[in-house]
Amino acid sequence: MELRKDPITRSWVVVGHPEREKLRPDPCPLCPDTRLETQVLLDLPKQGPWQVRAYPHFRPLYRIEGDPARSAEGIYDRMTATGAHEIIVETPEHTRLLSQMTDEQIERVLDAYALRIADLKRDARFKYVTVFKNQGPESGEEWPHSHSQVTATTFVPRRILYELRSAREWFRERERCVFCDILRQEERQTKRIVDNVGDYFAFCPYASRVPYEVWLMPRTHNHQFESPSTGENRRHLANLLGRTLRRLLQASGAYHMVVHTAPNTLQTKGELSDYWRTIAGDYHWHIEILPIVETRSKSYSIKEVYFNGLLPEEAAEQLRQLDPAK
Ligand SMILES: [Zn+2]
Ligand SMILES: [Zn+2]
Ligand SMILES: [Zn+2]
Repeated sequence: MELRKDPITRSWVVVGHPEREKLRPDPCPLCPDTRLETQVLLDLPKQGPWQVRAYPHFRPLYRIEGDPARSAEGIYDRMTATGAHEIIVETPEHTRLLSQMTDEQIERVLDAYALRIADLKRDARFKYVTVFKNQGPESGEEWPHSHSQVTATTFVPRRILYELRSAREWFRERERCVFCDILRQEERQTKRIVDNVGDYFAFCPYASRVPYEVWLMPRTHNHQFESPSTGENRRHLANLLGRTLRRLLQASGAYHMVVHTAPNTLQTKGELSDYWRTIAGDYHWHIEILPIVETRSKSYSIKEVYFNGLLPEEAAEQLRQLDPAK
């Protein structure tokens, strides 16, 4: 297993990860009474029986040991698949979905995200920490028991790189954050806003890639999800996330969710060093949710260009009509 860099797009590809044989779902490896031969990375709450638990993935995409030895092969670049791959079990209850949890429990899951990101960022080898979640059989979820995954990588994923480059350009030209500008305009236009709780907004992005794509974003500028700004109330975010997921699950049974936060700024060398000077001003954390409603394969083209059959304004209108308590 190794990482190879596409010299044209500059994106890294994990090659040679063996096709995952299905882990037996019975007994569920994520249930509390299943005996696990693994080290626990985090339990929340700190006292009493755990409600949220994090541990290393059983079949990790990246290995924590070793150095990301980068080597050249002629004009090509490769490195060993060093990194971390973890599971965050969101509840001890086998059948409870994130969307069915109380605001308090959802907030605990978000706290676990933040704590794992902050902890992994202390390792200077890791340039980026991704938290994501696949919900529903069509999403590629590994077990039905509600969980999220964390990866720490020695490179910044391609989509984040695009965001960083654009955000930095925008900031250079205007001395403003592009995400703040987007949210201000969405607030003025209102037609793509789905919901709002406290300082947090849920809206369908202007160029939504899939039907019912929703982003969650704080109104107050902050580049790091894992370090809430003073006065931030994450219970509001938990409430908004629960409301949004309950709406989305009425429109589709499956989704991908990903937290986009700033990269690891401990890394001062290499291709990204130039980004750090304005990162606190130009980047803005957000959560992207991509529901899976169109299973029809668009074969080759879907990988290169997104075709979304639903206008984001209509998607937002439909989502607003759905009961967020259901
Ligand atoms: Zn289970
Ligand atoms: Zn901002
Ligand atoms: Zn993003």
